[in-house]
Amino acid sequence: MHNKANIINGKEIALKVKADLKADVEALKREAGVIPCLAVVLVGENPASRVYVRNKAKASEDTGIKFLLHAMPLDTKEETLLGLISTLNDANDVHGIIVQLPLPQQIDSDSLLEAIDPKKDVDGFHPYNMGRLVTGSPCMQPCTPLGVMGLIDSTGVDLSGKEAVIAGRSNIVGKPMAMMLLKRNATVTICHSRTLDLPACISRADLVVAAIGRERFIKGEWIRPGAIVIDVGINRTAEGGLAGDVDFEGALKRASFITPVPGGVGPMTVAMLLKNTVAAAKARIKATGQRASFKRA
Ligand code: NDP
Repeated sequence: MHNKANIINGKEIALKVKADLKADVEALKREAGVIPCLAVVLVGENPASRVYVRNKAKASEDTGIKFLLHAMPLDTKEETLLGLISTLNDANDVHGIIVQLPLPQQIDSDSLLEAIDPKKDVDGFHPYNMGRLVTGSPCMQPCTPLGVMGLIDSTGVDLSGKEAVIAGRSNIVGKPMAMMLLKRNATVTICHSRTLDLPACISRADLVVAAIGRERFIKGEWIRPGAIVIDVGINRTAEGGLAGDVDFEGALKRASFITPVPGGVGPMTVAMLLKNTVAAAKARIKATGQRASFKRA
């Protein structure tokens, strides 16, 4: 087979999402006098976390969203962080709160994530939101799988009845991804490190979502001809570049659509964080009846 897959340009799709959000943010400011605000709690000096936070800050500012960074020292006590979360929960002008993971050892991540007001949980990690995702009810949805759905939708392919195979079962990617695909009526398989025959599972998929964190682990020849391949993985290569979990060049020859790394899922994850923040601000305006002139669309 020599026909090449269409490359899904995540960067471009994310730019469009952000442009739409910018218009939304301007309307909120104009009509309700509200500026959506995202608060980020960062603990310690993890270099990767600092890069992620910088990207989120820039994307927020580009969109007109206020970005509040709470950078805390590495040895911060859990109760201090819980106090900060409580203050942010109570702040009328803060609409979204995220805690940048990973956290240092002395902090129990679950306790901290569970302390966030579910209405401000723009990462969608709170068990309340996770539970509602499982039951198919409206909720804050985790940004990476939500971004993946946006990329799949850009292909125009209807997922109903399709075989979807997810490699990876983490709480932030694999599991919520499965729920979103189920909601779209795909037949979903979740693979993980104990899966006996990953190539066999992948080879029957109409849609592959790779989220295992292993460089080019999923080989081109495993891909069913015509499949959609979404590569969530971000791996640093020996040469200092970035590579996904899928052998891109090999899969390109068989897939119908494929995402590159970088420039695929990554930009969409950040765009979805902003989208959730704007949605949280809108929901708050609705709930508190702020400014009568605001159009309740
Ligand atoms: P985790 O490390 O939390 O989970 C990895 C999953 O992959 C686990 O379920 C693990 O199985 C499974 N796995 C590992 N090795 C294999 C294997 N050989 N065969 C099958 N399954 C395997 O990772 P995350 O979900 O947090 O992230 C996955 C990747 O996505 C990483 O590269 C990460 O950097 C990237 N990422 C990218 C984002 C983006 O915005 N683009 C956002 C979030 C993550 P088991 O459960 O059995 O251990």
